[in-house]
Amino acid sequence: MKLRVVILPGDGIGPEVTKQAVAVLSTVSDVCGYEFRFETHRIGGSAIEQDGTPLPERTLAACLEADAVLLGAVGDRRFDYLTGEKRCEAGLLALRQALGGFANLRPVKAHEAIADCSPLREDVTRGSDILIVRELLGGLYFGEPRELSDEGHAFNTMRYHKDEVERVSHIAFHEARRRKRLVTSVDKANVLETSQLWRRTVTEVAKEYPDVRLEHAYVDSFAMQLVTTPARYDVVLTENLFGDILSDEAAVISGSLGMLASASVGGKVELYEPVHGSAPDIAGKNLANPFGAIQSAAMLLRYTAGLYEESDKIMQAVERTLARGMVTQDLSGRKKRPAVPTDAIGQAVVDTVTDLLQMQMAYHAV
Ligand code: NAD
Repeated sequence: MKLRVVILPGDGIGPEVTKQAVAVLSTVSDVCGYEFRFETHRIGGSAIEQDGTPLPERTLAACLEADAVLLGAVGDRRFDYLTGEKRCEAGLLALRQALGGFANLRPVKAHEAIADCSPLREDVTRGSDILIVRELLGGLYFGEPRELSDEGHAFNTMRYHKDEVERVSHIAFHEARRRKRLVTSVDKANVLETSQLWRRTVTEVAKEYPDVRLEHAYVDSFAMQLVTTPARYDVVLTENLFGDILSDEAAVISGSLGMLASASVGGKVELYEPVHGSAPDIAGKNLANPFGAIQSAAMLLRYTAGLYEESDKIMQAVERTLARGMVTQDLSGRKKRPAVPTDAIGQAVVDTVTDLLQMQMAYHAV
């Protein structure tokens, strides 16, 4: 198994958390005898500083030639005065568009060991295990025309073609088949024409997956259900704007933004990144939660490399590390756990992954 991965540490806590994720991937490569090659490039503020642009051509070219891209975070206060395409965040948006991943997968899980970190009651979150599938390249964020006029009016366009809905729906149904076989499609079909097209198209695609149950929900009532009965959902399929808002809302189920991983798939090259930003308030202090980045690495092994067992071992190692009470300060929770540094958490995951993989290899050898 050969894999060429471009690493984009980015800004703030990005380098700290990607370092731990790369250490975990290197461990899998070493223990299993695979050939993972890593190549590091600049993006965001670090690229503006060195190259004068948030997405240098060299970075983009390397990403387009890679098997997968693993990104930390972008955002640097020193460059907050920049506008438009010069901003740190513009580099990431341009990268996402160039790589072409139209489906953003965000797993959200209530981990038993840190249930007290969520502001929701433990009996509400218990058993929650959701995969949000968000359409990423269409809808209001990209629709033309758009305008902010000096005369005091502004507008955006929410636009979808049925092909865009079909392709992301197939991904959602496909994922549901590997899970509990329920897809909840979220829209606002009682008001929006784009949502009526969305609902009609998803219903049509569902006929190809008779073994998966499809239900529809309106986004307003779903936003409430998500935090009152999260455990009843499996795959949640939705358009760009609704997905952006709902996936951040869902973060409360996991207890910390630092726990969430994501994958953007369906394009030329898959992009993996933790959901959080560059967290300048804690950058460089060895305080950042690396679990989101580490779980993004686990998603990379699953979706790009098809290494399901190895990916599962990383997820198990994360669970075990949490169960040992090894958490960063954001997961102190109501139990007031002491904070463990970022690199010590990374090392604990590396050690556990090593043990789990060696046990598996010994089992297969018998
Ligand atoms: P943020 O996610 O960086 O931080 C929000 C809060 O969560 C902060 O208190 C931070 O300390 C905490 N936090 C975030 N990740 C954490 C982690 N892994 N471990 C522990 N605590 C963590 O969001 P923000 O403060 O709104 O934005 C800061 C910068 O990041 C801005 O420049 C913003 O544009 C950028 N940003 C980038 C991305 C991305 O790269 N995908 C996403 C969101 C924000």
